[in-house]
Amino acid sequence: MDSDLDALIVGAGPVGLSMAIALAMHGLRFRIIDSAPNRVNESRALGIQARTLEIFEMAGIVDEFLAQGRQLHGLHLYGESGRQIGHLRFDAVPSRYPFLMALAQSETERILGDHLSDLAVHIERQTTLLSFAQSGRSVSAILALPDGEREEVHCDWLLGCDGAQSRVRDLLNLKFAGKTYDLHFLLGDVHAECPLADNEAHIFGRKEGLFALFPLTKGFFRLVADNPPDRFRSEKKPTLEEWQEVVNTRSTVPIRLSDLGWSTYFRVNSRMVENLKRGRVFVMGDAAHIHSPALAQGMNTGIQDAWNLGWKLALVQKSLAHPTLLDSFEAERMPVERGVLGMTDFTQTMITAEKSINRFLRDSLLPLLIGFEVFQSKAAKTISETAIDYRHGPIVEDHRLPHGPHAGDRAPYATVIRQSNEEEITTISLFGRQHVLFVLVESQSEPEIRKEFESLFELIQDRYAEIVRPYLILSDEKQFIRCTVDCLIDAYGEMKKEFGAGSALYLIRPDGYIAFRCPADKSSWLTTYLAKEFLPLREHEAATR
Ligand SMILES: Cc1cc2nc3c(=O)[nH]c(=O)nc-3n(C[C@H](O)[C@H](O)[C@H](O)COP(=O)(O)OP(=O)(O)OC[C@H]3O[C@@H](n4cnc5c(N)ncnc54)[C@H](O)[C@@H]3O)c2cc1C
Repeated sequence: MDSDLDALIVGAGPVGLSMAIALAMHGLRFRIIDSAPNRVNESRALGIQARTLEIFEMAGIVDEFLAQGRQLHGLHLYGESGRQIGHLRFDAVPSRYPFLMALAQSETERILGDHLSDLAVHIERQTTLLSFAQSGRSVSAILALPDGEREEVHCDWLLGCDGAQSRVRDLLNLKFAGKTYDLHFLLGDVHAECPLADNEAHIFGRKEGLFALFPLTKGFFRLVADNPPDRFRSEKKPTLEEWQEVVNTRSTVPIRLSDLGWSTYFRVNSRMVENLKRGRVFVMGDAAHIHSPALAQGMNTGIQDAWNLGWKLALVQKSLAHPTLLDSFEAERMPVERGVLGMTDFTQTMITAEKSINRFLRDSLLPLLIGFEVFQSKAAKTISETAIDYRHGPIVEDHRLPHGPHAGDRAPYATVIRQSNEEEITTISLFGRQHVLFVLVESQSEPEIRKEFESLFELIQDRYAEIVRPYLILSDEKQFIRCTVDCLIDAYGEMKKEFGAGSALYLIRPDGYIAFRCPADKSSWLTTYLAKEFLPLREHEAATR
């Protein structure tokens, strides 16, 4: 490629920062700019979902989030009479992180930004994208610099992570179709003396309107309410007295407020673009989709957009995959984003239930639904974003096996022991940089295993060493194998539980989704898949010469 840069990231919100981490992990040359002088100092996106924490684990930064955030284990819903109509438990989330993490967006951005500094990436602030033009080979962008000067930048890809008012989206002439809800909302971060459990969220749906309470740090809560009385909004933001009035009329337990911090009015939109890619330019995060903050999906969905695209861009830029790989970004992410819009629209309508008949239906039906374990489990998986799959995407290939997750599914989490140094690791910590091949073998004698997989490992080493890292999974430490690849011991039986008994090949993508699976004795099917999806080293060398 001709440009000075592989990519220019426009926007250093949570999505742009995550994109930058992904590109840095893959060693691309990029710049990240943001028109704002500083990161946000408001709490804004408060809920971090389990799947996002898994992504942070792949990036090696989850411990900092676990240290700073607050774990919320469920959500109580109270109906018209103030009676509890449902209790959604997050412990049903099938993850190492079975909770919703509450952490202010300002802290999330700080942790992501600090990590970028550690990776020697500098965020260029007070630097604004003004315009760009693209050809078949590159993009040239005009930036306004902090000193008022203009700079022309040439890059191979431009990544629009520039939020709901996206300039990139406008310059691409992408429609942002959807609606703005008629409702007005109030939001406030405030200290509250309150008898409700402070490790769970609480939502009251009364005829006066919705009132929700989410624990932040000790003693502090995020309050959200809709439908403020008409006499409110004389000020730019709700006052402590107004908040106390809202709480007194809508909560069924006594709550005393003090120390109001960030407080604001907002309206809810539900919109998305018709395309995520035009030529050499992508949009993602709020630039591509916005919706109700109910269920805490916006930032989380945007971070997953970035994580989906990062590795694909890296393989294409390194000439290790065909550029058509990038089309799978839209094919995989658009259905997910549409699903999030549908789910948040439905939840918003159900919780706010403006008409009394809707409140009656909600209060009668919800307790029945939530009573079913299967509903609890489905809701927990969906909200935590661990249920997302790309089974119908264009770049996964599934071959029937008696058990185990399918190609396109999120690779399940398991703890294993690395044979070389006896270190206990999670499978998720292996993802992020390369494709990972798990070779699961049933107990059998050492020479047989060697013979079976030797030629596969040789071929991977010879042609796909930069792309695929194979691991042989052994059922116990007695199955000692001297092997050219790393061996992982399934000491706790978690691999067997998650992937099923029997021999199988599972290829996991760097974003932690299963690219391919087949029976272990059909390794030629895997090599055909690799040849279809990737450019082997020899062709890569020719392409980069
Ligand atoms: C009240 C509220 C509560 C929310 N709660 C949650 C929640 O609990 N969980 C959740 O997942 N989501 C939540 N969200 C949504 C979440 O805040 C957004 O989805 C998230 O911030 C989107 O991140 P982003 O990086 O795409 O965009 P942004 O955070 O908007 O970042 C975009 C960045 O681009 C920069 N920029 C814009 N134009 C240019 C330009 N031309 N040149 C250079 N830079 C530019 C901006 O300065 C900004 O820093 C909430 C939102 C609100 C309003």
